[in-house]
Amino acid sequence: MTIFEKIIKGEIPCKKVLENDEFLAFYDINPKAPIHILAIPKVCVKDFDTADSMMLGRLSGFIQEVAKKVNIDKSGYRIISNIGSDGGQEVPHLHFHILGGGKLKWENLV
Ligand code: 5GP
Repeated sequence: MTIFEKIIKGEIPCKKVLENDEFLAFYDINPKAPIHILAIPKVCVKDFDTADSMMLGRLSGFIQEVAKKVNIDKSGYRIISNIGSDGGQEVPHLHFHILGGGKLKWENLV
């Protein structure tokens, strides 16, 4: 079981931002920006590449709600989904990083 499945089941605590029947958003334990939130589906999906496109559409709407809730929708933010080994994915459960709260840099990617 992945760490995110344990968070979904409540076996590991998280700092929750928003939740509905299908998705959960919580603060990343090791933030890379002033605001760093993870948005995940509650069902087990390995990554973006294997995810159902309809579900990804609903997850996009959920991410927009999260951005509004933490007041970064107007100032701007970045979403990232790491996929597989070259993508740097550590947790094999689909997640989007939502980063904001300050001017983000775009460098040192490789
Ligand atoms: P990945 O590298 O797979 O795209 O991102 C996994 C993210 O999960 C990392 O940013 C890491 O800090 C975060 N993370 C790992 N374990 C935990 C945890 O137990 N709680 C929270 N809130 N975040 C975690």
